[in-house]
Amino acid sequence: MTTKTDELKPCPFCGGPGDRQSGGDGESRRYGCSCANWKCVGHASALFHKNQQDAVDEWNRRAALQEQPNDASPFLQEDDQHDLHRFIETTEDGQGYDVGKDRIKRLAELGVVSNQGFGRYSVTMFGYWCHERYWHQNPSLPLKTIDEYNAEATENARRRIGGEGNG
Ligand SMILES: [Zn+2]
Repeated sequence: MTTKTDELKPCPFCGGPGDRQSGGDGESRRYGCSCANWKCVGHASALFHKNQQDAVDEWNRRAALQEQPNDASPFLQEDDQHDLHRFIETTEDGQGYDVGKDRIKRLAELGVVSNQGFGRYSVTMFGYWCHERYWHQNPSLPLKTIDEYNAEATENARRRIGGEGNG
């Protein structure tokens, strides 16, 4: 009979089946779980636990952590995210920002905007990245500078026009 607690979640690294392991006799018997695939990093198992249930619980806890989507852990707190959005919105229109001095200082401290002097701020690439990520626009990593970003956009546009011309 298989009880629910006996079930091993898939390997947190490769998604393959988990495997129970044990070693030693009597008092020194120890249990662990690892990936069944010996090529996987999850295979390197350690026999830490005195009973099998603890080993299964630990394995399943680690597997559960891995299951959480990345969206579950935003980089910015909700209020900061909205301030950043507001800042980008107003500055893109060429207006001054209206999120408040204390709030903008806070954003600067978090590294999503940078102080340009004379009370002026601009969004950092990290800020843009956080912003796009928040709106699920799947920004790419690693981060690019504005120049790199523009160069890539120019290159893409050139290729697209070239492609149409040839096509
Ligand atoms: Zn694995």
